[in-house]
Amino acid sequence: MTALVHRHDSEFLDLILVVCPACGGRAQMTKIEGVTARRLVCSACGHNRDVEPRDARVTTYPPTNNLCNGLSLWYDIESRHGRFYAYNDAHLDHIATYIASNLRQMAPSPTGVRNASITSRLPLWVKQAKNRTEVLKLIDKLRSK
Ligand SMILES: [Zn+2]
Repeated sequence: MTALVHRHDSEFLDLILVVCPACGGRAQMTKIEGVTARRLVCSACGHNRDVEPRDARVTTYPPTNNLCNGLSLWYDIESRHGRFYAYNDAHLDHIATYIASNLRQMAPSPTGVRNASITSRLPLWVKQAKNRTEVLKLIDKLRSK
């Protein structure tokens, strides 16, 4: 079994893939040193601008309404259980590894901040063993997007 490393949700927020507001293609939002805004760049149409979070003090899950200021995540899919989403490829991979390993919970971090775990923030239906095959299918679908 692949060793699972406890990773904080915010570790995956350095790069957020969003739907380009100009062309509907895949755009990247990256951090800008020293400021709260993020740079949005679309490789499909060249659209680029800075996106200011609605409230820089909080991290919401998902980050769409705050950090992305209303922009939709690229990896966002509706299922019969609810919405499933990921910020970027590394985030998607991390969730897939977790789901495939079927662990019920991850070990607490050295600081003991269990609630900050990415997996504890996943909706319950995503973590349920009976939905595993379905969730992995959703992940495959997003990967081929
Ligand atoms: Zn675009």
